[in-house]
Amino acid sequence: MKNWIKQSVQKIEADYNRSADTHLLKIDIPKAPSIHLYLKDESTHPTGSLKHRLARSLFLYALCNGRIKEGTTIVEASSGSTAVSEAYFAQMIGVPFIAVLPKSTAKSKINKIEFYGGKCHFVDSAPKMHDAATKLAAEIDGYFMDQFTYAERATDWRGNNNIAESIYDQMEKEPYSIPSAIVMSAGTGGTSATLGRYILYRGFDTKLLVVDPENSVFYDCFKSGDRSLTNNKSSRIEGIGRPKVEHSFQPNVIDRMMQVPDAASVATMLWLEKIIGRKAGASTGTNIWGALCLAEEMEANKEQGSIVTLMCDSGERYLDSYYDEQWVKEHIGDIQPYTDKLNYWFLK
Ligand SMILES: *Cc1c(COP(=O)(O)O)cnc(C)c1O
Repeated sequence: MKNWIKQSVQKIEADYNRSADTHLLKIDIPKAPSIHLYLKDESTHPTGSLKHRLARSLFLYALCNGRIKEGTTIVEASSGSTAVSEAYFAQMIGVPFIAVLPKSTAKSKINKIEFYGGKCHFVDSAPKMHDAATKLAAEIDGYFMDQFTYAERATDWRGNNNIAESIYDQMEKEPYSIPSAIVMSAGTGGTSATLGRYILYRGFDTKLLVVDPENSVFYDCFKSGDRSLTNNKSSRIEGIGRPKVEHSFQPNVIDRMMQVPDAASVATMLWLEKIIGRKAGASTGTNIWGALCLAEEMEANKEQGSIVTLMCDSGERYLDSYYDEQWVKEHIGDIQPYTDKLNYWFLK
């Protein structure tokens, strides 16, 4: 058993060793010239999103805790990027993988999970995923990876080239090398937990701003401290915003939260293509909108400095939704006021 675990860890570490770090892009804001905005492009991981980091951490965590053995079937509740990335690592170490997901999940995502050898187990609706995954894992003597519980603890927050350490390393030669703020949204809350802990651990003078979409309880939890909050809606911004306060969401390491209208997220995502020449997902729109609102505040206060935010995944996954004008009209509404504001900020 130990030998198999050792070889599996070795395979994951070797894959990491063959990988390059993700880029930190710079975006100029003409209306706020003394604020330097950077975008950490997490879409360039082999499985296309920041969930590649999470999946790697979750596998190493489970392996080194003796939870995955040769032949253990991995089960995860995820309709999105996490399942795709976990399927990749399961295939790498040669264990079966089953994603529990709502039957409404886009065919393109199902195809990606199956591409990496994963299987799909469908449930009627998103709220049923967690219980169904727990039950399935018990029935087949498998292991429920449970991203929403373990995301915050699987990542080595002190360093080990986690996303925070990578950002500070890449900022080293910039004019404002210690960012005034890092802006990130929360899905599991794992990434913001790592960023916040690393900032505290290193004693950096950086504020962590977490942006939240509509239909999410994270913002209200941050304001009230109440972890029992729930709602019965689902977020329209894929990857972020939750109807309950997930375990991995760690408000104590967050300095400030901001609510971002879904129409602003989508407008920013669509507009971004003109600025960087590539398509991003909607949560990247949420992040950048938050960063730009902060830049406007800083500019008004005559402050100077840098802001770093994240591109979480690529827009190629959403051609039938956010990148379809008719879909946006029906599901999100009028985005023009936000597009106008973006154009104003970027008027040369
Ligand atoms: C998971 C995810 C996020 C949020 O990251 P967490 O670390 O889970 O909080 C943001 N955007 C996308 C596209 C995601 O898949």
